[in-house]
Amino acid sequence: MSSPDDCIFCKIIRGEIPAGKVYEDDDVLAFLDIKPVAPVHVLVIPKKHIASLTQVDKTDALLLGKMLALAPALAVAQGADDGFRIIINAGRVGMQEVPHLHIHIIGGSHPLGPMLAR
Ligand code: AMP
Ligand code: ZN
Repeated sequence: MSSPDDCIFCKIIRGEIPAGKVYEDDDVLAFLDIKPVAPVHVLVIPKKHIASLTQVDKTDALLLGKMLALAPALAVAQGADDGFRIIINAGRVGMQEVPHLHIHIIGGSHPLGPMLAR
């Protein structure tokens, strides 16, 4: 099971490991992905440790909405001024690697390609 103590993204929130932070408020942190898949690749995470989108319920709706609503401004600030893609990998089937909920904001190359290979 994932716990905040050994969670890599909680360690970034606590300042225990460095990250290229691009936005922070009381609820949310955004930083550059360490292995970007496109010129713009930002991760948006809640400061509260939520392991996965598979774990959320309607009490998290405000927080999730806030994270998503930040995406357009963050994308433009990083140079993705002509659209972007949001990806949330969730659980085993979604091939989620880091067990702390995160939104990927991906853009900056034209075009990004299909959502998934058919
Ligand atoms: P996911 O497969 O959706 O769980 O994606 C996890 C993402 O976290 C990957 O794109 C990694 O490159 C990224 N990542 C892992 N560790 C770090 C870190 N220390 N700083 C920034 N991004 C990271
Ligand atoms: Zn965490």
